[in-house]
Amino acid sequence: MKRIRQPIIAVLGHVDHGKTTLLDKIRKTNVAGKEAGGITQHIGATEVPIDVVKQIAGPLLKLWKGEIKLPGLLFIDTPGHEAFTSLRARGGSLADLAILIVDINEGFQPQTIESIEILRRYKTPFIVAANKIDRIKGWKIQEWEPFLVNIKKQDQRAVQELETKLWELIGKFYEIGFQANRFDRVQDFTRELAIVPISAKYGIGVPELLVLIAGLSQKYLEQKLKIEVEGPARGTILEVREEPGLGTTIDVIIYDGTLHKDDTIVVGGKDKAIVTKIRALLKPKPLDEIRDPRFRFDQVDEVVAAAGVKIAAPNLEEALAGSPVIACRSEEEIEKAKQEILNQIKSVVISTDKVGVIVKADTLGSLEALSKELQEKNIPIRKADVGNISKTDVMEALSVKEEKPLYGVVLGFNVKVNEDAEEIAKAKGVPIFVGNIIYKIIEDYEAWVKAEEEKRKKELLAKTIFPGVIRLFPDERYVFRRSHPAIVGVEVLEGRIKPGYTLIKQNGQKVGTIKSIKSKNDFLQEAKKGEAVAIAIDGAIVGRHIHPGEILYVDLSRDDAIRLVKELRDMLDETDIKALKMIAKVKAREDPFWAAL
Ligand code: GDP
Repeated sequence: MKRIRQPIIAVLGHVDHGKTTLLDKIRKTNVAGKEAGGITQHIGATEVPIDVVKQIAGPLLKLWKGEIKLPGLLFIDTPGHEAFTSLRARGGSLADLAILIVDINEGFQPQTIESIEILRRYKTPFIVAANKIDRIKGWKIQEWEPFLVNIKKQDQRAVQELETKLWELIGKFYEIGFQANRFDRVQDFTRELAIVPISAKYGIGVPELLVLIAGLSQKYLEQKLKIEVEGPARGTILEVREEPGLGTTIDVIIYDGTLHKDDTIVVGGKDKAIVTKIRALLKPKPLDEIRDPRFRFDQVDEVVAAAGVKIAAPNLEEALAGSPVIACRSEEEIEKAKQEILNQIKSVVISTDKVGVIVKADTLGSLEALSKELQEKNIPIRKADVGNISKTDVMEALSVKEEKPLYGVVLGFNVKVNEDAEEIAKAKGVPIFVGNIIYKIIEDYEAWVKAEEEKRKKELLAKTIFPGVIRLFPDERYVFRRSHPAIVGVEVLEGRIKPGYTLIKQNGQKVGTIKSIKSKNDFLQEAKKGEAVAIAIDGAIVGRHIHPGEILYVDLSRDDAIRLVKELRDMLDETDIKALKMIAKVKAREDPFWAAL
């Protein structure tokens, strides 16, 4: 029997922008003086039956022409982008639709941007709740009022301020490629992002938000929401939890089929598929019926998608948040499910001996999200795994560091760094980048790479000798001193010279070391092509080793040449290259290495 299930809805947005307040408000719908009861608490989710939506919405439902056939809406209780990334299903997101909440007074913040990136990556449709409109100066509050009714009561000034703030928000969306508009001005919901101004605290605009979610789901997601009710259940693990008296349990959102209390399930573990038989299906007891906190759950015989349920079963200790749950009714189905789950894990949890970064995350989904982002930036990954950052991770990064310093790092999303891992990382200089915003973790890493590269370049620059070719002036008048040290006037023909550089003759013979460079009365740290300067050369005697008019070359080592050509290439200009070629020609007589340069 086919039926349309409840769409699964996630709430995302920056910290303090009102995600929890909105969810709480939705949960308290029936306390709002309306008749509509029936909000049901699931495990990890809250269900708003369609009758409740209809009663709250009243005449607003006319916004949607066709009849709403959805049984209701299922809101995921844990808001935020971290939780969202663990809601994997079928390679995409478990959430059918999302609400992106933005504090209208604060606008875009880092986690707003991160949320949008994640929604975009998962191709999850969303609508925007522009929250805290009650904070606008002089705003008149009426609990649970539809926005379109509430706005009519506001004075001109407040309306104007709201419009300005909305325009700012619309502008921000435009900058990142979204056409957005206030929901009642949207012409085509497939092209424009709808913004509903709300006050989560007072419920203003929440009626429209619910109607819009129901209507959009009905209109655009009907095919996806049509499920075979009797079919075997499929779901995603939200959380793996230890429960007193129950052992390790998994909190699961079922998005397809029906789960029976005596089903066999296959779930994803760290590196394996776990096959286990359900011991109990549990739902939370209504709050007013919890007399003893040890008995917070009721057993049920079955759950029909979409629903949140706690599953108690043996062998769940190694189950992985974010991995699939597939109910099976035959050996054949079990085998198929095992294969499917293993393939999914293998595509995310990777372990290689490649030179690359170490990636850790709290769930399979967030690991996948972080890894994908790194791959898009062509940052190679050696290992990607779920869990806190351990000593082993740091040791592995250290071994990479020896080969490729810039990849010898650990990146972690929403994970802790174990104490011993932290210690060894500090001692061995292995950088760890952790956080709960994917793009920030990567930005921090990239900034570090850039700084390291610059540091390395500076070090290289400091120890690399640059090529230079000079000529002593032919006139004897420019021999200022013949020896100890010899001081002569020279012109730099190509490249550059610096104090400390050793000079050689055309035949490769060493002349001595430049002690100082002087122009008029100033000592210089460098003289470049075209400059005429006086140099003091330690170890040379004019008339014996060098003669007026002679051409001299800076002596380079093979290492200098390799660094110049390979790593400092962009620091060389045309004349440096000419000088390098001239020096190579001189040195090639003795060493074939230079001929090949
Ligand atoms: P979260 O971090 O996104 O879950 O944000 P919260 O729901 O915890 O809200 C953060 C703060 O903003 C709390 O002090 C809320 O009371 C307040 N807040 C949330 N929504 C509104 C609203 O619509 N109006 C006002 N005035 N305050 C709000």
